[in-house]
Amino acid sequence: MLDGLVTLAYLVAASLFILGLKRLASPRTARAGNRMAAVGMLVGVIASLVSAEILNPVELVAGLAAGSVIGVVLARRTPLTDMPELVAAFNGFGGAASALVAAAEALRVAGTADLTIGPIEATVVGMSVLIGGVTLTGSFLAVGKLRGSVRSNGFPGLRIASILIGIGTIGVLGLLISQPSLLVALGALAGLALVLGVLLVLPIGGADMPVVVALLNAYSGLAAAATGFVLGNYALVISGALVGASGLILTRIMCEAMNRSLTNVLLGGFGAEAAPAGGGGSGEETPVRSTTADDVAVMTSYAGRVVVVPGYGLAVAQAQHEVRELADLLAAEGVEVSYAIHPVAGRMPGHMNVLLAEANVPYDRLIEMDEINPEMSQVDVVLVIGANDVVNPGARDDETSPIYGMPIINVDEAEQVIVLKRSMRTGYAGIQNPLFFKANTQMLFGDAKETVKAIVGELKALQDA
Ligand code: NDP
Repeated sequence: MLDGLVTLAYLVAASLFILGLKRLASPRTARAGNRMAAVGMLVGVIASLVSAEILNPVELVAGLAAGSVIGVVLARRTPLTDMPELVAAFNGFGGAASALVAAAEALRVAGTADLTIGPIEATVVGMSVLIGGVTLTGSFLAVGKLRGSVRSNGFPGLRIASILIGIGTIGVLGLLISQPSLLVALGALAGLALVLGVLLVLPIGGADMPVVVALLNAYSGLAAAATGFVLGNYALVISGALVGASGLILTRIMCEAMNRSLTNVLLGGFGAEAAPAGGGGSGEETPVRSTTADDVAVMTSYAGRVVVVPGYGLAVAQAQHEVRELADLLAAEGVEVSYAIHPVAGRMPGHMNVLLAEANVPYDRLIEMDEINPEMSQVDVVLVIGANDVVNPGARDDETSPIYGMPIINVDEAEQVIVLKRSMRTGYAGIQNPLFFKANTQMLFGDAKETVKAIVGELKALQDA
């Protein structure tokens, strides 16, 4: 009876994961999808704990309460720009948990039966410990790089050391499978996996960490799925496989949207090169034209169509509410305002969608890059707010550009372009942007929150006059 109920609970949990994941595909349904998957996880955890009689009800409720409090505090205190770090830390803990549970289960079985586990179980336990260990140290190193506290990109001989440790790891895994002497082989495997995680992530540039985090997310799913096999827990196998597959798909989408191969990301160093001088890489100093908030207010209020292109700087400045106010004021004047969304604007997939949703920007105002590009020549004014690489025409026109081939939003085809940023500094790719030097571009320098506020102030003054 209990077994039947537990299997049913796992089925319900797995269905909720799949339905939740489906809903995450659209900003409109994403919150509901997230809640659905969380309920699925709760059902799965309770079913596992009850069926294996691991905890009594008091311990169960106390654990749930403690976990919920930690989760709520973390979610409320972490700003959106720090989400990749939080996700990386979660991945690290997930990998460690999978490795520890698989190892503990293997040791328990070996202890009770007074013999070692079989080769198939040893393979799965070994994979879980290996992937979990790599995920743990790789993820926490990624957190350090995202925070800027780890700046090193390696040391001489790192590649050779990685290859030697990789070969050693395969050797120990083979030993574990052929003659399982659990404690020693598992301990050695765990130690090598922890070192390997550091060596694999160390050479990758700090700016590429979001892609690495997506990949490590996939690893943590694979480690969980392997542990699910060890425990014979279907819900864990299914949820681990879903995390593994979605993490890999996300990694691929991010690489494609940046026109980079995964190998190129993993071999590292991107974003480190110095920015060329003005003129978009021609070597000549070309002046840029700067403008003022009141000019932008006049220009936009007389426009028929204005498109806002948000980027990473908008998230840094936390200017989303001011941008929404600006759009509302223009709409009240009869100006058509929409937002052009690049798939890798910001530092995580969907970054701009989440940011604008926070300011209650209606979803139907958000237009994907492929949809808006053909209309760009009919746009009167484009406001590029804290975006840089995603509007760099060099990616389209200059074969020597490091980001050549990356799809961009063709803002330079619009009548007028206003770029809101603090300085002439480069963005994530570390390269200068020829857009800033074009005849139809003007720069509005300053923190995006302050400059948008200033435009809003001028617009209000115009409307009151
Ligand atoms: P970029 O990183 O290219 O540029 C952001 C710009 O914002 C900077 O040039 C900066 O200029 C400006 N900025 C920073 N702070 C502020 C502020 N407070 N006020 C105003 N401006 C500010 O961002 P994009 O969104 O255009 O491009 C994203 C990049 O990140 C792409 O290269 C993409 O490949 C990469 N990437 C994206 C991932 C994703 O999943 N979204 C993952 C990994 C990488 P200044 O300092 O002069 O103000």
